[in-house]
Amino acid sequence: MRESENSDLLNEQMEKIDREYKEFVEFRKTIQPKKEAIRFSLIYLLLGCIWILFSDRLALMVSSTQEVFQQVQLVKGWFYVLASGVFFGWIVFKRMRLFEMAINELVKEYEMLTMADEELVAMDEAIQEQYLEIKQQKNALLTSDERYNLAVEGANDGIWEWDIKGNNFFISPKVAEILGISSEEMTDTAEPLLERIHPDEQQQVKASMEQYLKGQSGIYEDTYRIRKNDGSYIWILSHGKAIWNKQGEPIRVAGSYTNVTEQMQNQEKLHQLAFYDQLTGLPNRALITKDINTSIQEHKGQEYKMAFIYLDIDDFKHINDTIGHAFGDDFIVMIADFFEDEVDGFGQVSRLGGDEFGIVIYNMNAIEDVEILAKRLLERIKKPWKLGDYEFYVGISIGIAIYPESGKSASALMQNGDTAMFHVKDRGKNAYSIYTPAMRQQTWNYIKMNNLLRTAIENNDFSLYYQPQIDMQTQRVIGVEALIRWIHPTEGFISPMDFIPFAEATGQIYEIGEWVLKTACEKKREWKDSNHGSLKMAINLSSKRLTQEGLVESIKKEIEEHGLSGCCVELEITETAVMNELERAIEVLHELRALGVTIALDDFGTGYSSLTYLQKLPIDILKVDRDFIRSITRENEEGHIFRFVTQVAHNLGLKVVAEGVETKEQLMFLKNNGCDIAQGYYFSKPVPTHEIGNVIDQINHLEKE
Ligand code: C2E
Ligand code: CA
Ligand code: CA
Repeated sequence: MRESENSDLLNEQMEKIDREYKEFVEFRKTIQPKKEAIRFSLIYLLLGCIWILFSDRLALMVSSTQEVFQQVQLVKGWFYVLASGVFFGWIVFKRMRLFEMAINELVKEYEMLTMADEELVAMDEAIQEQYLEIKQQKNALLTSDERYNLAVEGANDGIWEWDIKGNNFFISPKVAEILGISSEEMTDTAEPLLERIHPDEQQQVKASMEQYLKGQSGIYEDTYRIRKNDGSYIWILSHGKAIWNKQGEPIRVAGSYTNVTEQMQNQEKLHQLAFYDQLTGLPNRALITKDINTSIQEHKGQEYKMAFIYLDIDDFKHINDTIGHAFGDDFIVMIADFFEDEVDGFGQVSRLGGDEFGIVIYNMNAIEDVEILAKRLLERIKKPWKLGDYEFYVGISIGIAIYPESGKSASALMQNGDTAMFHVKDRGKNAYSIYTPAMRQQTWNYIKMNNLLRTAIENNDFSLYYQPQIDMQTQRVIGVEALIRWIHPTEGFISPMDFIPFAEATGQIYEIGEWVLKTACEKKREWKDSNHGSLKMAINLSSKRLTQEGLVESIKKEIEEHGLSGCCVELEITETAVMNELERAIEVLHELRALGVTIALDDFGTGYSSLTYLQKLPIDILKVDRDFIRSITRENEEGHIFRFVTQVAHNLGLKVVAEGVETKEQLMFLKNNGCDIAQGYYFSKPVPTHEIGNVIDQINHLEKE
């Protein structure tokens, strides 16, 4: 800006100088020294001659005498000198003035020239500076060009440049290397390269480039697959930047190709890990949660129904324990295939974890369709399943939740499906049910109980009560049964009949069982050196624990740690404990008896009670259930059965215990019909640990009286 102002000023000055110079030239033409000198000399000569000719005559005329004449001559001489002096003075003055003016003009012009020269020098310096700058820029350009070339050659990325107007496509040798093509195959148009793009992505690539060019700003970016010469595909990340002309038309685009195959494969692996079950390859909980929520979003405000089916294999733990974990995994895969075959595209099968599966039915027509599927699954799963040498049967519990009435989000649907499934489990498994809000309340109770139990275990809120067992013949106490009690600080007394099944379902029974065993053994040790030292301690063993890993070892440890001998510990087991895994149960019972522990079969007379078990099982005592005892009278069927059972038991070398004895009549009948031991309110209710000693003494004392 400043430079252009300077040069304008300079131009102006130069024009002025030029103008004045021309005026000077014109003026100089008027100056003719020779002509002037001759002119002046002639004028002077003329005037001199006239003067000489006429002045003497005039002097003669006015002079009367010689003397006067001489006087006039003298004056005339002086006058001439004076007049010519004045004349020359005037002439010289005139000319000198002219000369002075010329000199002044010259000086002025010279000054202006000097100024112009200074401007010129300044301009020259500016030009010099500009020149240097340009030179530097040129050098920088050269280095950056070199650098660019180096970068292009050395980079891991391939470089491309597309001259849109001329449709010239340049790719660096690296691109050829990445694509595994030879330099001869490198063409100068884009088409051959576009053809190599994966068919699935060709449209996308074109569209995203067009989009970018329309946008007239930013950076172009796209990821797609390109076919290599060997036919395999690699993932390319393409970056680029375009230049647009003033009309907004793109002229050229340049950018890079990066081979991101490895990253994409890792990403794919991560995706697989995050969204698919590794064992079955089915979508996992995260993926279906996402899919369900997406489907809900897509159908917002529309009449849309969807079903979520929650499936849980019944007693999978049992299957796992029987056939081993490796087979357990194979079984899960088999079941997954089974579900996929049965669902056959009607819904999306997923594995939610462990032995739990989910089926989502998008765009459900009628709930009946879902019920038909549930029924078919229940029916078809009944077939015998073969794995290696094993053949077994499985059941599934199915809970169904419908969108939108049973949940407006994936998590609500899944949770309610789970609740419905749990409802089925609670009612004997191997069936389906559709979620209703009432189920929720039941689950809440379950959850509440679950939490209560957990804190009870942590706070050690349990205690043991003891109920005496009396020998029919001697009328003396020969042992006690330890019975767990739970008095909750706010909920009050909670019956073992209520919480034991819960604890069994949740697995909390293992901890509780350990605690009972330890506490009962402590009580037994307390008695060791007293007159109760020979009493038997009967401990209830949950059916869940009989075949539990390490049970025998832990019982052995407790007995030894408390310095007890096995024979004073009795374990009460139930038929259900034995029935589940008969062979294994028998094995465990043998091991327990080897410790000296006696075994009582509890609750006989309820459920499946079968005499065939009595033969098979290594047990010592048969405990007839209190419900059975309650209904006994001398002459009724129960009375006959009791007599018969007692005989069989005795033949097998077993002793018979009657529990729930409440009346003198019951006691007399039992005594007369071979019952060996009695237990019940008739003698005593279960009492806390500090009372049991006295209660025993009282009962024994009664006998003496
Ligand atoms: P069970 O093993 O059959 O225990 C006998 C139950 O009969 C006890 O109930 C006892 O209080 C009750 N009982 C005893 N005599 C009479 C009587 O004359 N009349 C009546 N009506 N009832 C009588 P409790 O203590 O409520 O225990 C209920 C069940 O809870 C037990 O039945 C047992 O299956 C389970 N249980 C109790 N304690 C434990 C334990 O420490 N571990 C395990 N695994 N289960 C336990
Ligand atoms: Ca019992
Ligand atoms: Ca019982």
